[in-house]
Amino acid sequence: METQDYLQLDVIAVGAHPDDVEIACGGTLASMSRRGYRVGIIDLTDGEPTPNSPGPDVRLEEAAKAAHLLGVHTRVTLELPNRRLFDTFEARVMLAKEFRKYRPAVVIGFGDKTPTASPDHWQAMQITDAAVFYSRLTKWDEHFDGLPVHAVPVQLYFRLAFEPAILSGYHSHFTVDITDTLETKLQAIRCYQTQFPPAKEYVFDRIRGAALTSGAAAGFHAGETFVSTRALGTRDMMKFLFGG
Ligand SMILES: [Zn+2]
Repeated sequence: METQDYLQLDVIAVGAHPDDVEIACGGTLASMSRRGYRVGIIDLTDGEPTPNSPGPDVRLEEAAKAAHLLGVHTRVTLELPNRRLFDTFEARVMLAKEFRKYRPAVVIGFGDKTPTASPDHWQAMQITDAAVFYSRLTKWDEHFDGLPVHAVPVQLYFRLAFEPAILSGYHSHFTVDITDTLETKLQAIRCYQTQFPPAKEYVFDRIRGAALTSGAAAGFHAGETFVSTRALGTRDMMKFLFGG
């Protein structure tokens, strides 16, 4: 397999289910795409079954529409099992292969448990952490179809945006201004009619509220907050503080 068969991506956001990434960081992905960056999404499962969906085909159609709205270049759905997602060697390798193919500069994924929601999210975090590591390991080609290694330079964590609280235990929080893309984010989430029927309209208020709260804390109208797995550093402090 040759990596030139695959478009190199600037950022890949990893979710357990189609709609996770939209809820967590859809505004940031849309903003990046508008700025000319190449954006990808990897869903570890197709998210099915769920209570109100007729099946995976409809869910995947919804995911494709949402990706289109956000300006996402590549969306990959891995064939790992929804509701039974576990951090296994096979799952780690499967995701690491995608990193080797698309060679992202930034990987964004789950950074915390989601109590009362799917335990797949926590497993997704562990799989993503491991896959970032596996992606760069040499002398292991037999597990990766001969794909060359790729060291991911930056790994970030998100929380699902129902809860604006920051990730605890990490120091390098930062907020992306999504004032211009908040409505696009909400529209993308609305593509998932099987997940958010009219009875769940309150979800959109929560997501909007979380974006406004996160944004206000950083001096923006709306924002999405991330943590860096390493301390953030800069050579040019003014650019870092005021750079745009
Ligand atoms: Zn989910």
